[in-house]
Amino acid sequence: MSVYQSPFERLREKFDDSELKCRHCGYRDDGSWNVSTTGDRVQYRFVCSSCEAVETREMRL
Ligand SMILES: [Zn+2]
Repeated sequence: MSVYQSPFERLREKFDDSELKCRHCGYRDDGSWNVSTTGDRVQYRFVCSSCEAVETREMRL
């Protein structure tokens, strides 16, 4: 049996594997990306708990 994975789930997995590291201060966060979807876009967002810089990634499905 094959397991169907939506593009979103595959992206999600990819992001769960990538480390959350702030580009501004180098702080590594153990949390996870905040995911929001708008239409055909997925936006990943994370706020550094050290310097409060906001990291965002946007992807099109
Ligand atoms: Zn930071």
